[in-house]
Amino acid sequence: MLTYADCADYLKNVYNGINGEINPVVPAIRLVLTEPNPNAPKNFAIAGSQCMMYVEIRLDNVFEKFNEARLTDNQIRGGLLFILAHELSHCDQKIIPNKQDDIEYIRYMEYTNNLNTLEFIKKNWNLLQLCYGTFEIPEMVCGSYLEQSKFYNGKIFVFPQISSIKEKVLDGVSLLMKEDIYANKYPLVNNMNLSIFVGQNLYDRFEIIRNKNLVCSHSAIIRMSQFIARAIYDYRKSCVINGDTCEMTLYLSAPPEYHVTILK
Ligand SMILES: [Zn+2]
Repeated sequence: MLTYADCADYLKNVYNGINGEINPVVPAIRLVLTEPNPNAPKNFAIAGSQCMMYVEIRLDNVFEKFNEARLTDNQIRGGLLFILAHELSHCDQKIIPNKQDDIEYIRYMEYTNNLNTLEFIKKNWNLLQLCYGTFEIPEMVCGSYLEQSKFYNGKIFVFPQISSIKEKVLDGVSLLMKEDIYANKYPLVNNMNLSIFVGQNLYDRFEIIRNKNLVCSHSAIIRMSQFIARAIYDYRKSCVINGDTCEMTLYLSAPPEYHVTILK
């Protein structure tokens, strides 16, 4: 019978092996596993999340649900593998930020992401068993193909892969910005520029807000800059607000090194 600690070790091992393989364009920066917490909300829908290359697995929640369902060790390993691979796969997925509230769109994203995840696991089936132990994927983590194909009525969908880390950052910024459109207790800005330096060199400059319909609170920008930078590289930042325009500069160190594995 696998313990919570066994599951945590298993996830860390698998993460080191498949991060950057299922998600070659945007490798995750950090894996966060939640600790058992009796006060945490229990909802199986929250198995994991991915935001800007941060992957969090709600292991307390998952562990409890797997035990309730009396899964075998093989099924627990398969379930954890699927959940982790699913979140890593999201890192490489192109997400349209302004469709986050559209339930059909979210289903489509989850559906294509599940397909990509299962495809990866299928392709590496033998190697994954060899490296991390035998497993089987329980239906409770991936839903049934039948249900999904019913919803999509036989249409063929292709996993929308993101083209670069830059695109990921821009999408993340739009996403975070949107969350704060309604937070108007802070000064608002209508224009925002983000400059990113790597070492001494200007790496890129983005015009994030150039639209009176998109507003972003001062506090949101601070949080956003912390978030972006924490998720990507070590950094320091400067943020100057001039009237309704924010100039944010992130100074980044060199990109981190990622684990390389033999999985394809
Ligand atoms: Zn998902």
